[in-house]
Amino acid sequence: MDFTLRKYRQLLQAFSESGYRIVTVRQYLEQKPDGKVIILRHDVDEQPRNAFKMAALEDGMGIHATYYFRRVPKSDHPDIIRSIAALGHEIGYHYEDLSKTNGDMDKAIASFSDNLEYFRQYYPVKTVCMHGSSSSQYDNRDIWKHVSLEDYGLIGEPYLSFDFNSIFYLTDTGYAWDGGKYAVRDKVRQTGALSFHTTDQVVKAVLDGDFPHQAMILAHTLWTDSLPSWMFLHLREFLRNRIKLLARNNRIVSAIYSSLVKLYWK
Ligand SMILES: [Zn+2]
Repeated sequence: MDFTLRKYRQLLQAFSESGYRIVTVRQYLEQKPDGKVIILRHDVDEQPRNAFKMAALEDGMGIHATYYFRRVPKSDHPDIIRSIAALGHEIGYHYEDLSKTNGDMDKAIASFSDNLEYFRQYYPVKTVCMHGSSSSQYDNRDIWKHVSLEDYGLIGEPYLSFDFNSIFYLTDTGYAWDGGKYAVRDKVRQTGALSFHTTDQVVKAVLDGDFPHQAMILAHTLWTDSLPSWMFLHLREFLRNRIKLLARNNRIVSAIYSSLVKLYWK
C-alpha cells in the first residue's frame, strides 16, 4: 500500500540515510543551503488531524517541514496549528483570496491581509503559498501584480521564489508522484524527463543516488494508516482526477464540478 504513514517514514528515511538535509521553505530561503537538500512542504487542504500525525512522525525523526493552512473549516483547526508549530515546524498561509472573492481584487487584498494576521497569532508567518483553486477561473497569484511579498514582511512563495530549473519539483497530487498532469495551477514548469509514479520508485532512486541533489517535495496530508480512510481517499482522488480532466474540455462538467467543490468547502 502506498501513501500510508509507514511508506512516508520510509521515504524520509531514504533521504536522511542518503545524506539529504530536509528543510522548511523558510529555512531554505534564509540559508540558501548547498549540497543535498529537500525542501519539504505540506499543503493542508483538509484533514488537519492527519497533518498532525505527519508532523509528529517527522518531529520524531528530527525533521521539520512547512505546513500551509487554508482559512476554511476543513483546514483551519487552531489547536492543531498550535501543536504543529510547537513541534518546531513552519506554519504558512495557503491563500485563495482572489478565487474566494470571485476576482474582486480590492476585497482579495484586504482578505489576504486579514487572514495573514490571523495565522500570525499562531506563528510569525514568513512564507505563503497559493492554493490552486482548480475549479475557479481566478489565479490566486494575481494579487502579486498589485502588492508585493515585502509589503507584508514575507520572504517567499513556493511558486514565485524558487528556480525550478535547478530545484526538482515533486508532488503527490492525486495519490501519485506523476499526478501533476491533473493539476490545473499547482504545477511548475520543469525541464528534464525524470518521473516517478510510486513512493517505492522515489525511494529506490534516492538510495541508488539517482535522485536530484536539490528538490522541493509537496506532500499533501492524505497519507494515512487507517484502511477505511485510505480506501475512501484513493477512490475520491481517482474520481476527482477523472472529473478534472473532463471539466477541462466540457463546460457543463466544469460548472457542475465547480459547484460541487464550493459546496464541499462550505
Ligand atoms: Zn491547496
